[in-house]
Amino acid sequence: MKSEAIVSDTTQIEARSVGKKYGKFHALRDVSLGVSEGEFLSLLGPSGSGKTTFLMMLGGYEPVTSGQLRLDGQDMTTWSANQRGFGMVFQGYALFPHLTVAENIAFPLKVQKRSKAQIVDRVAQMVEMVGLDGHADKKPKALSGGQQQRVALARALAYEPKVLLLDEPFSALDKNLRGQMQEELRRLHRELGTTFVFVTHDQEEALALSSRVAIFNQGALQQIGTPAEVYERPANRFTAEFLGDINILSLAGLSDAPIELPTNAAAFDTLAIRPEHMRLATDTDANQLPATVRDRVYLGSKSRLLLETRAGEELMLYFDNGPGVPPPAAGTELRVAWNTPDSFAI
Ligand code: ATP
Repeated sequence: MKSEAIVSDTTQIEARSVGKKYGKFHALRDVSLGVSEGEFLSLLGPSGSGKTTFLMMLGGYEPVTSGQLRLDGQDMTTWSANQRGFGMVFQGYALFPHLTVAENIAFPLKVQKRSKAQIVDRVAQMVEMVGLDGHADKKPKALSGGQQQRVALARALAYEPKVLLLDEPFSALDKNLRGQMQEELRRLHRELGTTFVFVTHDQEEALALSSRVAIFNQGALQQIGTPAEVYERPANRFTAEFLGDINILSLAGLSDAPIELPTNAAAFDTLAIRPEHMRLATDTDANQLPATVRDRVYLGSKSRLLLETRAGEELMLYFDNGPGVPPPAAGTELRVAWNTPDSFAI
């Protein structure tokens, strides 16, 4: 990806054309990005896209094959994980099963040879911070999945690392608990101001949690930006489709329709519009496209309409199920509309 300046005054971590090969297989190619101090960056992509590999290279657990990694302006490419000193929370909880909650949290502090009094204070503080009061003397197997993940977070944050790396920490939790832990993580991030780099393959999780999202596919960085930037202005079709439902119209099929194209349309052959930005047209709408309803799915407050354009392309949009206005049935011919600024060419 070619991007604007990736380094600024607040840049803490920088990857310069970082690559990783396992034998002849390129797991990552030419990744350049900067992470600002205190930011919450998510690494998002499908399975096998290279996110975990990149996180492991940041932490010093996997050597890079090419390029450079920098920390606060210094070349850290060959530093060990210990020298970098980042906190790490893994997919499984990786707690010590024979140690209590308090002993698990104390472990990295003992390794650092902190004084006994310091350790006792810090452990109590961390137990409270992650909401585990009353559980300090329990062994991990006596805790729920969410509680175990809290211990792992407390242990990783106990020695106040500058950077916390998290690899799909909530993937084993059920949906409700996952939402709760996401909230907790946001709160911890707000309170601590630590830099978080968070791997996930869940786009909603990435959009909800992060200050910026880096999207990976097949070992290449596709785009990096705020959740709104990557969702509303995806750099390419992969990113557009990976982040949510998207209506794709070929510009060739639109040549007869009275449509105002976005400014970058000349360089591309496809127009993209998110379903929530499309509606049934009224006479005053500028952009109008005829379509036929193919299917209608009742969703309670809304109905999802699946439509087909005259060029044979599929569209989706949501219809608000208001009083007295039934959603159009299959077979209805109608026109759809959208506002030009909500469309983009890719
Ligand atoms: P997931 O969400 O499934 O963990 P990911 O995006 O984190 O996926 P990685 O685990 O970084 O992907 O893997 C990227 C690619 O590198 C995959 O094709 C994987 O098979 C390959 N790979 C990872 N580790 C090794 C290894 N030690 N040896 C060989 N190939 C590897």
